[in-house]
Amino acid sequence: MLRPLKLAALHALGTLGIFDRAVNSRWRRERLLILCYHGVSLEDEHAWDPELYLSPQQFALRMQFLEKANCHVLPLAEAVDRLYAHDLPPRSVAITFDDGFYDFYAQALPVLQQHGFPATVYLTTYYCDHAQPVFNVACRYILWKQRGRLVPRDSGFECDLDVRDTFSRMQTFRRLLDLCEERSLSGQEKHQLLEMVAHRLEFDFTRFLSRRMLQLLTPTETARLAGQGVDFQLHTHRHRTPEDPACFRAEIEDNRSRLHAMTGATARHFCYPSGVVQPSFLPWLRDLGVLSATTCEHGLADASTMPLLLPRRVDTSGASQIEFESWVCGVGALVSRKTLGCWLARRQPYPIAIKDIEAVS
Ligand SMILES: [Zn+2]
Repeated sequence: MLRPLKLAALHALGTLGIFDRAVNSRWRRERLLILCYHGVSLEDEHAWDPELYLSPQQFALRMQFLEKANCHVLPLAEAVDRLYAHDLPPRSVAITFDDGFYDFYAQALPVLQQHGFPATVYLTTYYCDHAQPVFNVACRYILWKQRGRLVPRDSGFECDLDVRDTFSRMQTFRRLLDLCEERSLSGQEKHQLLEMVAHRLEFDFTRFLSRRMLQLLTPTETARLAGQGVDFQLHTHRHRTPEDPACFRAEIEDNRSRLHAMTGATARHFCYPSGVVQPSFLPWLRDLGVLSATTCEHGLADASTMPLLLPRRVDTSGASQIEFESWVCGVGALVSRKTLGCWLARRQPYPIAIKDIEAVS
């Protein structure tokens, strides 16, 4: 009910010229919009998970708007430097991609290059070294793709593959994850399990592999893209943030050394995997020489934002073009539910997180 009202309000604000005034305002000039993407579909991934994937057409429209609005799309490191030096150009934007899926190379990069936009890829390096689909997402995709079926367990496989509806699909996915955990399956064993699930559900796994769907960039591709100016930064080696300081450190150091081997550069910017932030992470990141870290909190950053808690706008298929445009102009941040709620309650956004984090850092 609220969403149609919000969209109608955004259309009205656009018609009244508020977007144009906002995008050129001093308020917007002092702020940096960091866009977050995960993937641009090779086939139908946006229909499977609209929170993770955009269609190529949607992504192209987003980038066209950045150009039309005369946005200054900056490399992330420069954008962060200039944010804190109070030296941002008007309509500043930085573009980031999480994880480093192959589709960045195949689908997003040509569009970015067409507009001359720089981008940062936060690369999780484990699956880079193992040219296989990322187990969790690939498993979810295959179960969705073959939805409507039921393959009962038998002597060859101990788990019912029930994907008749959304609920049974989720249960089956959960059961397969439990199986991996109970048996402490290695990466290779998980890949074999995925292949078995695909085979039993009559999914064309060979084609899936050859299309490179839900696979990460290889080391060779990463090196090639770095040579073409793509910026690769930290996202942990195995896409996890352990609460044990030594394990956390190892995740960053392994990630950094793998990135260095591929790109020749030392990565100093970080993105929290799955947006998980704990107050204890901040001093650990500082000790590791990390200069900035991005979250999945929606917002624009200004010079008072903590560099290790930079908000972003996570752009998804579920967001309409006008919502995207409202964020580029700054209006989207002002009318977001969180900001309005905070204003109504007469308090700052994210007070608990900031307070907790400052207490330990
Ligand atoms: Zn991620």
